Amino acid sequence: ALQAGIVGLPNVGKSTLFNALSNAKAQAANFPFCTIEPNVGVITVPDERLIALEKLVKPNKVVPTTVEIVDIAGLVKGASKGEGLGNQFLGNIRATDAIIHVLRCFDDDNVIHVDGRINPVSDKEIIDTELQLKDLDSVDKKINKCEKMAKTDKDAAAALDVLRNLKKHLEQGKNARSFEVSKEDKEKFINDMFLLTVKPVIYVCNVDEKSVVNGNKHTEALMEAIKDENAEILLVSAEIESEIAVMESFEDRQLFLEDMGLHESGVARLIKSTYRILNLATYFTAGVQEVRAWTITKGMLAPQAAGVIHTDFEKGFIRAEVIKYLDFLKYESEAACREAGKLAVQGKDYLVEDGDIMHFRFNV
Ligand code: GDP
Repeated sequence: ALQAGIVGLPNVGKSTLFNALSNAKAQAANFPFCTIEPNVGVITVPDERLIALEKLVKPNKVVPTTVEIVDIAGLVKGASKGEGLGNQFLGNIRATDAIIHVLRCFDDDNVIHVDGRINPVSDKEIIDTELQLKDLDSVDKKINKCEKMAKTDKDAAAALDVLRNLKKHLEQGKNARSFEVSKEDKEKFINDMFLLTVKPVIYVCNVDEKSVVNGNKHTEALMEAIKDENAEILLVSAEIESEIAVMESFEDRQLFLEDMGLHESGVARLIKSTYRILNLATYFTAGVQEVRAWTITKGMLAPQAAGVIHTDFEKGFIRAEVIKYLDFLKYESEAACREAGKLAVQGKDYLVEDGDIMHFRFNV
């Protein structure tokens, strides 16, 4: 399963946010949450479409899709040199597919800041620097290896060119994700290093209650600092999220949010963003037994998408019957869609789109 890791300096609100994610009552009572390990949570992806399909199909069961979130505590200055169990935590980050970087943007004299002042821009730089130093180690190692091979190996010589440029880039305090390189070269020379700063990132500004809609001076400074990164940024109040997370009634939660000028909880926004930066999409199966959301990577063809349900579906794939979500809403059932000519029969070259309602035909 794909995994996103929560990182940030101590005392910025990571655990509070992780607990809010873990406790979040999903949209319906039958949406389960479970904790695999104390710091790993499987979190359901909120999806209004699933609720609409449930109303129309009235299935016995609704199964949402999920992402895994890991709370990676303990990152401090010097981590790349092994300080504060640093290496272990950096290893945990390496295992994730995306990074949720929490930054403290709230003033509260009762909560100690590790450096004694609130400055999310420099906090971000501290974490970035540790990750960049670790990446520099990886790049240096590979450069060494390639230098030995470059005399006889043409590929190694080409790799050296790319790697030396990447090294310069990292040394300037930039992240590998902003390094300009062709897709080909990236796949050939960079991907095998599993760099930390190449992973997609969401910056989560942990703000006080008054700043969740319009931000504050700290979030403005941060936005200015990351404006060239093309990264997602979210304003969330971890403390408020932890209050919302334990509210039983959906109506109560909605009222509470609207009181603060929000439509959606920070937790829901964060999960959706995570899904987006991981380049994931959802298709549905909608039978009376079960209405279910399935996760695919964008760009998957119908047989691969079928393989997410079961490898036999991929191997024996014959065709897929596809209804677009909006057509299903309009005609309200598979039979009515079929009658209206809104059920398309697609072959193995069909590119599955987000929201497709799929029915696979296969040989066993
Ligand atoms: P972590 O070390 O990053 O995991 O930080 P924690 O989640 O343990 O939070 C550190 C302290 O900050 C705790 O005392 C929290 O109650 C407090 N805290 C977390 N989020 C907020 C917030 O949004 N506002 C305020 N005022 N305090 C917060």
